[in-house]
Amino acid sequence: MHSTGYPPPETEHPGTYDPRTDYPDAMRICETIEDMRAACRAARRGGKRLGFVPTMGALHEGHLSLVRAARASCDIVTASIFVNPTQFGPNEDLAKYPRTFERDRKLLEKEGVELLFAPSVEEMYPVGAAAWVTVEELSDKLDGRSRPGHFRGVTTVVAKLFHIVEPDAAFFGQKDAAQVAVIRRMARDLNFFLEIVACPIVREADGLAMSSRNAYLDPQQRKQALVLYRSLMRVQKLADAGELNAAKLAAAAREEVAGENSVRLDYLEIVDPDTLDSVEDVANGALVAVAAFVGTARLIDNILLPKTAG
Ligand code: AMP
Repeated sequence: MHSTGYPPPETEHPGTYDPRTDYPDAMRICETIEDMRAACRAARRGGKRLGFVPTMGALHEGHLSLVRAARASCDIVTASIFVNPTQFGPNEDLAKYPRTFERDRKLLEKEGVELLFAPSVEEMYPVGAAAWVTVEELSDKLDGRSRPGHFRGVTTVVAKLFHIVEPDAAFFGQKDAAQVAVIRRMARDLNFFLEIVACPIVREADGLAMSSRNAYLDPQQRKQALVLYRSLMRVQKLADAGELNAAKLAAAAREEVAGENSVRLDYLEIVDPDTLDSVEDVANGALVAVAAFVGTARLIDNILLPKTAG
């Protein structure tokens, strides 16, 4: 149990509970769907705008940037911490995925998050759960191609979270660019009435994209991991100098990654950010996305090239 016991049961304050003003320093933690749903509904009363930041915990500045974006545009901010088993493949890192709940809780409380949803796996997936949400085709591109079933797990859990929280806006990181495309499509196609907000990638001072999986890197691998960012910067530089041909840009980036022997490239692709289909040139803007294994850690990064003028 990690419930704080705050605020007191709603029956003591029927219909008047506002977590921000009534309990300014307390973040309420809900472990059950029923509690979370009731707390979210109460929080939205009176037309308050509810922002939602779903996470798998092991929080870093990237996650906190989403919380701050939510804080800036919403009246009430809620987050979730749930390491979702259905988005991990059988040979992936579910068992060893970092879990740092107490630290995460404090960080979110410090950011002024009012409500935290931290359900168990059994709560989210009761015995016999058999329904899935799938975005076809898009889910088989980029990370979806390398990680079969990954996006089906993501869209299923995000759809469930959206139903439970009923947010007005949900905040995702551009770091997971394919995830943003898949979730946007799900929300559009299944009529989820909420705004999907994509927030910029937060990086370490040397350019490495922040990731909970960076914790797997030893100091040498941490240096080697910088090749992902370097490969993207090489594309950026060439594009800035007028190179629009996607194949040439991709070749230059792949060459950069190949220069770091111990890093194994998974994919380097230049695609349309909405359809995730390859583009021939980047004149209309493009997503340059890379994934690579550094040791056992699979890291991803990307940049968005803007539409060129004219
Ligand atoms: P995760 O806990 O890895 O599922 O990530 C939760 C959310 O944080 C997702 O929307 C991610 O895209 C986002 N996120 C993770 N790393 C970063 C980062 N470096 N910058 C911005 N957002 C991030």
